[in-house]
Amino acid sequence: MDLDATLETGHPTVLWHRLADGRVQCDVCPRECRLHEGQRGFCFVRGRWRDAVVLATYGRSSGFCVDPIEKKPLNHFLPGTPVLSFGTAGCNLGCRFCQNWDISRSRAVDTLADAASPQDVAEAAVRLGCRSVAFTYNDPVVFLEYAVDVAIACRERGVRAVAVTAGYVNPAARDALVPHMDAANVDL
Ligand code: SF4
Repeated sequence: MDLDATLETGHPTVLWHRLADGRVQCDVCPRECRLHEGQRGFCFVRGRWRDAVVLATYGRSSGFCVDPIEKKPLNHFLPGTPVLSFGTAGCNLGCRFCQNWDISRSRAVDTLADAASPQDVAEAAVRLGCRSVAFTYNDPVVFLEYAVDVAIACRERGVRAVAVTAGYVNPAARDALVPHMDAANVDL
């Protein structure tokens, strides 16, 4: 899939506004990227398409893994249980020490090999005996619409949602994400 196609099929978002100079500004994180048509933000996964900001990675995962919840690391949340870790691609930070740099700084959409609806992710967690799903590998802030829908699908099945995030987020986006999370680890 070429890069424009991932924007063309992108998921609508609402946390942005129009600027007087014709650009649109993404309001999800403090970078507040100001975008011309067809341009992507710093995170590379939110971009402007047909005069609106879309999320290019909705429903597409960079991979899944079953981990102990202590690996997130959370030591007092469902201790001793497995968690389904998954992520997408892109990040709103550019840490040079990132241990997941190949995912978080990916510019290759081929990284997003697996199509996974929110229901698919939640049902995979149930099938694999996981008590929770963790949004990890890259920061859920940049894919918050997908993370929220996965969290809703998980809660409907009795599965909890965990955010692993740097917390680099604007208040409105934080308020959209946090009520759907059952636990969080905020670090780099
Ligand atoms: S979420 Fe991405 S596009 Fe939006 S302001 Fe942050 S880095 Fe820019």
